[in-house]
Amino acid sequence: MNIESMKTPILRIDRILDNELYIKRDDLIPYSFGGNKARKAALFFEEILNGEYDCVVTYGSSSSNHVRIVANLCCSNNLECYVITPKEASETTFNSKLREMFNVKATEVSVEEVHDTIEQLLCDLKSEGHNPYFIPGGGHGNLGTQAYDMCYDEIKEFETETGTFFDYIFFASGTGTTHAGLVCGMLKHNDKRTIVGISIARKNPRGRNVVIESIKEYMGEDSRIEDATVFVDDFIGGGYAKADSSDTIKEVMLKYGIPLDSTYTGKAYSGMCEYIKNNRIKDKNILFIHTGGTPLFFDSIQ
Ligand SMILES: *Cc1c(COP(=O)(O)O)cnc(C)c1O
Repeated sequence: MNIESMKTPILRIDRILDNELYIKRDDLIPYSFGGNKARKAALFFEEILNGEYDCVVTYGSSSSNHVRIVANLCCSNNLECYVITPKEASETTFNSKLREMFNVKATEVSVEEVHDTIEQLLCDLKSEGHNPYFIPGGGHGNLGTQAYDMCYDEIKEFETETGTFFDYIFFASGTGTTHAGLVCGMLKHNDKRTIVGISIARKNPRGRNVVIESIKEYMGEDSRIEDATVFVDDFIGGGYAKADSSDTIKEVMLKYGIPLDSTYTGKAYSGMCEYIKNNRIKDKNILFIHTGGTPLFFDSIQ
């Protein structure tokens, strides 16, 4: 997998709620079922493979797309993969089955113990003479942000080539760097449009603050950041992975042949539709970024 292979299509899908809907298919990134975690992991692995690392340590639940991609990349590159995983989110999923197929060394602990367990593991590995690379959960950090700053450039390129302008960009916002990278891209180009992150778990103000911190860490202070960061927490349902978006998932699959899931993209898609209705948005070009999670689609129809 390399950075050039990240480029994904933007397709016009339909006219919905009096607006033109386009979808950017980041779920089609051609490695391990793609998704935004593949885009981020490509940058992390560029750094890993250029360094002297002999193993990777990361964190994520049993439904984590990030863990699946990182574990698969470790297999492809002959690196040992250690995963710290919370007991509270450990049900069997297609992602967790894949994680097993990739032979990760998983340690299950309760959420409060995660931080210390990671520290201890990194310490143990080093004292055994290993050189571990730590990737924060969800591919958080400047490299994750950079991945979506670069994705924004792809969106700009599409607009220039086709003479289209997206008034709104919607997507599922979780750990925040997908959101942060897109906002950084917009500010870098000095574009005026609305980027709306639909929260899949976190509430305001924390969720939005994490995005803002990631933006500042990547591009420094800028007076435009506050206004540019729209983080909507109205559609989180019961929290992470807890939502019944089965009607939306079915509808989008039947109508467009596009798989969504109940943890991320299904919530974001139905949240986007509600947002469009509530804000009476009409005759605009809307871009939905499909952030992936294809294995979760199969969990959602079981
Ligand atoms: C992780 C994930 C997100 C959220 O991305 P963040 O950068 O963590 O905010 C959205 N969609 C899917 C499918 C994901 O796996």
